Amino acid sequence: SRGFYVGRFQPYHNGHQSVLERIACFADEIVIGVGSAQISHTVTNPFTAGERVLMLTRSLEDLDCPFYVIPIEDIQRNALWAAHVRAMTPPFDRVYSSNPLVIQLFTEAGITVQSPDMHERPIYSGTAIRQRMLDGEPWEHLVPPAVVDVIREIHGVERLQRIAKSD
Ligand code: ATP
Ligand code: MG
Repeated sequence: SRGFYVGRFQPYHNGHQSVLERIACFADEIVIGVGSAQISHTVTNPFTAGERVLMLTRSLEDLDCPFYVIPIEDIQRNALWAAHVRAMTPPFDRVYSSNPLVIQLFTEAGITVQSPDMHERPIYSGTAIRQRMLDGEPWEHLVPPAVVDVIREIHGVERLQRIAKSD
């Protein structure tokens, strides 16, 4: 079977990595959707879709399951979102998600949804990691080493700190 997993990955972190490593054990292939693909350079969405694709593909280099990373732009109509995702991705027969809206929309679309257990959710959270970056606190231990490299390369922390300032 081919599974689907979606997130914004702002940034991609160890919680996501742990879920994907678990999914890899029971899916033949994994389709990973990079959500809100059109948004970047904001305090809640600092990284571009391309930067997030880089974080994912490099971190998952050793995954023993073929995967595809597909950017997916938002549509402002939840009722059509599952079909929009379907149109942008290789066919999948199962969704892995703990997000209530994602679960609801795919269930209504007739697709089987499985909810993986959270991996130390308060620590491994995009919001918490972005806050640490803003505060100048250590965050590197919360993401795969490849993500540290990508964020260094693009000067991601400096970007986030600059766009958080008021004029
Ligand atoms: P943000 O705080 O920016 O929303 P996030 O950590 O929730 O970031 P998302 O990109 O929104 O990350 O999440 C993608 C998916 O990964 C969501 O379905 C979310 O439930 C799941 N997820 C996030 N953190 C963890 C975790 N620590 N363990 C397992 N799943 C997680
Ligand atoms: Mg989230």
